[in-house]
Amino acid sequence: MGLFTRGRTVLVDADILVIGGGMAGCGATYESRYWGRELKVVCVEKANIERSGAVAQGLYAINCYMGMQWGENQPEDHVRYARNDLMGLVREDLGYDIARHVDSSVHKFEEWGLPIMRDPETGRYQREGKWQIMIHGESYKPIVAEAARKAATEVCNRIMVTHLLMDRTKPNRVAGAVGFNVRNGDYYVFRAKAVIVCAGGASHIFKPRAVGEGMGRTWYAPWSSASAYALPILAGAKMTQMENRIVLTRFKDGYGPVGAYFLHLKTYTENAYGEEYESKWYDHTKALVGDYVDRHPVPTCLRNHALLEEVKAGRGPIRMVTKEAFQDPHKETVGWENFLGMTIGQAVVWASQNIDPKHTNPELTTSEPYVMGSHATCSGAWASGPADYAPSEYQWGYNRMMTVDGLFGAGDTIGGTAHKFSSGSFTEGRIAGKAAVNYVNDLGSEQPQVSEGEYEDLRKVIFQPLENYRVGRNEIVAGTVSPSYIAPLHGLQRLEKIMDEYVGGISSHYTTNEPLLTRGLELLGMLKEDLDHLGAEDLHQLQRAWELHHRVLASEAVTHHTMFRTETRWPGYYYRADHPKLDDTDWHCFTLSRYDRDSGTWELEKAPVYHIVD
Ligand SMILES: Cc1cc2nc3c(=O)[nH]c(=O)nc-3n(C[C@H](O)[C@H](O)[C@H](O)COP(=O)(O)OP(=O)(O)OC[C@H]3O[C@@H](n4cnc5c(N)ncnc54)[C@H](O)[C@@H]3O)c2cc1C
Repeated sequence: MGLFTRGRTVLVDADILVIGGGMAGCGATYESRYWGRELKVVCVEKANIERSGAVAQGLYAINCYMGMQWGENQPEDHVRYARNDLMGLVREDLGYDIARHVDSSVHKFEEWGLPIMRDPETGRYQREGKWQIMIHGESYKPIVAEAARKAATEVCNRIMVTHLLMDRTKPNRVAGAVGFNVRNGDYYVFRAKAVIVCAGGASHIFKPRAVGEGMGRTWYAPWSSASAYALPILAGAKMTQMENRIVLTRFKDGYGPVGAYFLHLKTYTENAYGEEYESKWYDHTKALVGDYVDRHPVPTCLRNHALLEEVKAGRGPIRMVTKEAFQDPHKETVGWENFLGMTIGQAVVWASQNIDPKHTNPELTTSEPYVMGSHATCSGAWASGPADYAPSEYQWGYNRMMTVDGLFGAGDTIGGTAHKFSSGSFTEGRIAGKAAVNYVNDLGSEQPQVSEGEYEDLRKVIFQPLENYRVGRNEIVAGTVSPSYIAPLHGLQRLEKIMDEYVGGISSHYTTNEPLLTRGLELLGMLKEDLDHLGAEDLHQLQRAWELHHRVLASEAVTHHTMFRTETRWPGYYYRADHPKLDDTDWHCFTLSRYDRDSGTWELEKAPVYHIVD
């Protein structure tokens, strides 16, 4: 036994276990308590829910609000919008379900103390765009976390969940999870009747633009480490649309958001020579995707596409024209406040690079790809839909239950439903929480059957990197490169390089093809073998080791899905050079995968897209 494996084993029993206390996890915890007054609801989080997840720094806008009280939009409108943006492919039942409930979540945020800006003339929430409302959101996350904290029976902060536990009597039923305390090394075994995975999206699976000591500067949160996908994948849950990675156009180097600039400040972009360029790429784009280019608003990926083509043609950099808008003192204030409430780093980058947007039009760039289910993208687990709205083929149990019994998800975890954002993720958490309560009530007194042998074996596996380091470090006289173990950072860089070069990252202009993907999978397979030899010098590195495990598995899913879909559905997100066009005849469908952890093999299939809203 090594230094840290001497930690205690802590057994926690729960009716409902929520993994990840970000937006979706807080929603799930809150709603589970509302419907399950007597139930034991436990939320486990690898950081501290007070400031964890993608909303940790705060936000300046809530991007999903219908405004039904004022007749601004209806849920069907949002389904049409998301479907259009995702080039026709969304789970309309799930999206509708979120849209019809999301306003009530936002009203709760306001009730709990979140300052929402109001239009002085109408008294309504101040709109930034058709779906976005503006907030003073520096404390958005602490406000939401307080509600979850008060609702939970127990919040276990600083516990990284590494594996789900399966019921030993029923092969396709979840029974809990295991993980470790990242501060003291205690081993945690959670036994639960229902588990709701809300562990965020995945950054750092593709090589980021910022490397070296700046590598934490990514658009999506660097701590979003793909657990939301790896945990269900390992449990045998079906995943969908994992090829649908997202690439964001953002202000260069700081990844400052552009939404408020386009929508509220009415700024626009131009190429290095001060020319409008999007219209130049119209015919070219139309030849690739047909009528999708004529949709309004133009899908996010296609707007990236025009920018990328213009840069490839040698007319970059692309700049945001801020000089005009910033002459208006009100707009100038809004422009700066937009960063100060959510991405202070962008303001610091501009200050350090002598960029005053009143006098200099700042550069834009496209990010490395991320995998997530809540933004303008919809990767994640394949979930059962709402009983009153989902087609029968999309209903096999409780709302938001995956293809594993008792295993639910929300937010970035659930696939097929883009444009949820912070409010929609919280709302989906609420939906999953309510369904999980029904599931638990229907189980009655039936208890989850956890195998002690299984969790004791997992304990050895989880802490092994500490042992690898303890033994292997004796072979090193200086530096960090060891002949017999890999440091988590080295493994991460190897993963990012494979994904970047073979699966369509920044260095290949997001382009890949079957031979590249085939080789990428071979290299990922070799990396996976080497993960048994990760070495962790302390608990922090042990967390990094398990984050890497999760990222590698999610990357494998992304690569298999990208290989399976033989078309280029979302130019601007990625390109299959061997199938450069959108192909609605063969690919107007979802892609599904299932991983068999015993054989290490993947099975892929298609699932139909049902258009419920006209
Ligand atoms: C830069 C940026 C800007 C954005 N701007 C907006 C905006 O303006 N408006 C808007 O509405 N939305 C915005 N979003 C989107 C919004 O933040 C997400 O949609 C939302 O946070 C997703 O919720 P989630 O619960 O799925 O993930 P998160 O909120 O990220 O929560 C995931 C949680 O899981 C925890 N976790 C992960 N792995 C584990 C593990 N193994 N064990 C235990 N815990 C784990 C994490 O620590 C985290 O707390 C933005 C996101 C980003 C990154």
